Amino acid sequence: MSDCIFCAIAARDIHGRIVHETEHSLAFLDVNPLAPGHTLVVPKDHYARLDDLPDEISEDLFRTVDELVPRVEEAVDADATNIGLNNGPAAGQEVEHVHAHIIPRFEDDGGNPIHAVAG
Ligand code: 5GP
Repeated sequence: MSDCIFCAIAARDIHGRIVHETEHSLAFLDVNPLAPGHTLVVPKDHYARLDDLPDEISEDLFRTVDELVPRVEEAVDADATNIGLNNGPAAGQEVEHVHAHIIPRFEDDGGNPIHAVAG
Protein backbone atom coordinates (compact mmCIF):
# COMPACT_ATOMS: atom_id res chain seq x y z
CA MET A 1 0.00 0.00 0.00
CA SER A 2 1.53 3.29 -1.12
CA ASP A 3 1.05 5.39 2.03
CA CYS A 4 1.86 2.65 4.57
CA ILE A 5 5.05 3.19 6.56
CA PHE A 6 5.59 -0.52 7.22
CA CYS A 7 5.10 -1.35 3.52
CA ALA A 8 7.76 1.29 2.79
CA ILE A 9 10.16 -0.37 5.26
CA ALA A 10 9.42 -3.81 3.76
CA ALA A 11 10.11 -2.42 0.28
CA ARG A 12 13.33 -0.77 1.57
CA ASP A 13 11.96 2.58 0.38
CA ILE A 14 12.62 4.01 3.85
CA HIS A 15 15.16 2.94 6.41
CA GLY A 16 14.23 0.40 9.04
CA ARG A 17 16.59 -1.31 11.47
CA ILE A 18 15.78 -4.77 10.13
CA VAL A 19 16.86 -7.62 12.40
CA HIS A 20 15.30 -10.67 10.72
CA GLU A 21 13.48 -11.72 7.59
CA THR A 22 11.55 -14.78 6.41
CA GLU A 23 9.62 -15.52 3.23
CA HIS A 24 6.55 -13.63 4.46
CA SER A 25 7.64 -11.66 7.52
CA LEU A 26 10.00 -8.87 8.46
CA ALA A 27 11.27 -7.90 11.91
CA PHE A 28 12.71 -4.47 12.69
CA LEU A 29 13.34 -2.31 15.73
CA ASP A 30 10.57 0.03 16.85
CA VAL A 31 11.50 3.67 16.19
CA ASN A 32 10.05 4.69 19.57
CA PRO A 33 10.92 1.72 21.78
CA LEU A 34 9.17 1.00 25.05
CA ALA A 35 12.30 -0.89 26.10
CA PRO A 36 15.71 -1.61 24.58
CA GLY A 37 15.27 -4.21 21.84
CA HIS A 38 11.56 -3.46 21.25
CA THR A 39 10.96 -5.26 17.97
CA LEU A 40 8.06 -5.28 15.53
CA VAL A 41 7.22 -8.28 13.37
CA VAL A 42 5.09 -7.57 10.30
CA PRO A 43 3.88 -9.42 7.21
CA LYS A 44 5.78 -8.16 4.17
CA ASP A 45 2.52 -7.67 2.30
CA HIS A 46 -0.09 -5.19 3.45
CA TYR A 47 -2.86 -6.48 5.70
CA ALA A 48 -4.60 -4.11 8.09
CA ARG A 49 -6.10 -6.62 10.52
CA LEU A 50 -5.16 -10.01 11.89
CA ASP A 51 -8.25 -11.63 10.40
CA ASP A 52 -7.19 -10.42 6.93
CA LEU A 53 -4.07 -12.62 6.98
CA PRO A 54 -4.04 -15.80 4.90
CA ASP A 55 -3.20 -18.83 7.05
CA GLU A 56 0.27 -19.29 5.57
CA ILE A 57 1.25 -15.72 6.35
CA SER A 58 -0.28 -15.80 9.83
CA GLU A 59 1.62 -19.00 10.62
CA ASP A 60 4.86 -17.49 9.35
CA LEU A 61 4.31 -14.33 11.41
CA PHE A 62 3.67 -16.10 14.71
CA ARG A 63 6.41 -18.67 14.11
CA THR A 64 8.77 -15.76 13.52
CA VAL A 65 7.68 -14.09 16.77
CA ASP A 66 8.20 -17.37 18.62
CA GLU A 67 11.68 -17.81 17.17
CA LEU A 68 12.72 -14.21 17.78
CA VAL A 69 11.70 -13.94 21.44
CA PRO A 70 14.73 -15.81 22.86
CA ARG A 71 17.05 -14.05 20.44
CA VAL A 72 15.76 -10.61 21.41
CA GLU A 73 15.95 -11.49 25.11
CA GLU A 74 19.53 -12.67 24.69
CA ALA A 75 20.50 -9.59 22.66
CA VAL A 76 19.47 -7.17 25.41
CA ASP A 77 19.88 -9.52 28.39
CA ALA A 78 16.18 -9.33 29.24
CA ASP A 79 14.47 -11.35 31.95
CA ALA A 80 11.12 -11.76 30.18
CA THR A 81 9.04 -10.46 27.30
CA ASN A 82 5.68 -8.87 26.61
CA ILE A 83 4.19 -9.85 23.25
CA GLY A 84 1.35 -7.64 22.06
CA LEU A 85 -0.74 -7.05 18.97
CA ASN A 86 -3.17 -4.16 18.76
CA ASN A 87 -5.84 -5.35 16.34
CA GLY A 88 -7.87 -2.36 15.18
CA PRO A 89 -7.86 1.36 16.02
CA ALA A 90 -10.15 0.95 19.04
CA ALA A 91 -7.52 -1.41 20.50
CA GLY A 92 -4.77 1.18 20.02
CA GLN A 93 -3.53 0.15 16.57
CA GLU A 94 -2.00 3.30 15.11
CA VAL A 95 -0.24 1.79 12.10
CA GLU A 96 -2.83 -0.05 10.02
CA HIS A 97 -0.47 -2.80 8.91
CA VAL A 98 -0.53 -5.89 11.15
CA HIS A 99 2.41 -5.88 13.57
CA ALA A 100 3.31 -7.87 16.65
CA HIS A 101 5.31 -6.14 19.39
CA ILE A 102 8.13 -8.01 21.13
CA ILE A 103 8.94 -5.94 24.22
CA PRO A 104 11.82 -7.07 26.43
CA ARG A 105 11.21 -6.83 30.16
CA PHE A 106 13.70 -6.51 33.00
CA GLU A 107 13.47 -7.26 36.69
CA ASP A 108 12.51 -4.05 38.47
CA ASP A 109 11.79 -2.12 35.25
CA GLY A 110 8.77 -0.82 37.07
CA GLY A 111 6.24 -0.60 34.27
CA ASN A 112 3.73 -2.54 32.27
CA PRO A 113 4.35 -1.89 28.55
CA ILE A 114 1.19 -3.79 27.61
CA HIS A 115 -0.74 -0.73 28.84
CA ALA A 116 1.41 1.54 26.72
CA VAL A 117 1.06 -0.69 23.64
CA ALA A 118 -2.69 -0.54 24.09
CA GLY A 119 -2.42 3.23 23.90
P1 5GP B 1 0.56 0.34 17.38
O1 5GP B 1 0.13 1.40 18.35
O2 5GP B 1 0.00 0.57 15.99
O3 5GP B 1 0.36 -1.04 17.88
O4 5GP B 1 2.13 0.49 17.30
C1 5GP B 1 2.79 1.13 16.26
C2 5GP B 1 4.26 1.10 16.57
O5 5GP B 1 4.96 1.44 15.40
C3 5GP B 1 4.68 2.09 17.64
O6 5GP B 1 5.35 1.38 18.69
C4 5GP B 1 5.59 3.05 16.92
O7 5GP B 1 6.67 3.50 17.72
C5 5GP B 1 6.06 2.25 15.73
N1 5GP B 1 6.36 3.03 14.54
C6 5GP B 1 5.61 4.00 14.00
N2 5GP B 1 6.22 4.50 12.89
C7 5GP B 1 7.37 3.81 12.75
C8 5GP B 1 8.43 3.87 11.77
O8 5GP B 1 8.43 4.68 10.85
N3 5GP B 1 9.46 3.00 11.95
C9 5GP B 1 9.50 2.10 12.98
N4 5GP B 1 10.56 1.30 13.05
N5 5GP B 1 8.52 2.02 13.91
C10 5GP B 1 7.46 2.87 13.79
